Amino acid sequence: MKCSDISDPQVTSVELDRLADRRLVLLDHEGSYEGVCLWFECQFPGDSPCLSTSPASPRTHWQQTALVLPQVEEVAAFECVAWEVVLERSSDERRHYNIHFSMLDPDKEPHPIPCDCISPRCALIGHVMEEYEKTVGIIE
Ligand SMILES: [Zn+2]
Repeated sequence: MKCSDISDPQVTSVELDRLADRRLVLLDHEGSYEGVCLWFECQFPGDSPCLSTSPASPRTHWQQTALVLPQVEEVAAFECVAWEVVLERSSDERRHYNIHFSMLDPDKEPHPIPCDCISPRCALIGHVMEEYEKTVGIIE
């Protein structure tokens, strides 16, 4: 499962009060869709190394946050999943965030064009683009 990076290294403290991200992710293999993993990366000013809590980075005490879905979904290769994550800074504890996670209908989210997913709409667009390129020329 691909994870999202919703941080911007130039954000201000006020901007950190609320962070939101909406994603459409093309899955590269079939399997069980069980949740989403969140982590942060922080680049401090100067030549400091990046502080990353990514699962692929050396372990820190910060760790990651796993958002586990209420039920497991079996997914196919080249299927899309979509979600929205909103992080709101807690008014009680400024170092804590309340996490709001919503699964979205991937068929109602905009897909890139061309898109390699298995949805009939994207397959049709891909086919039309291929035929156009064969008869008219390359689409830029
Ligand atoms: Zn698509």
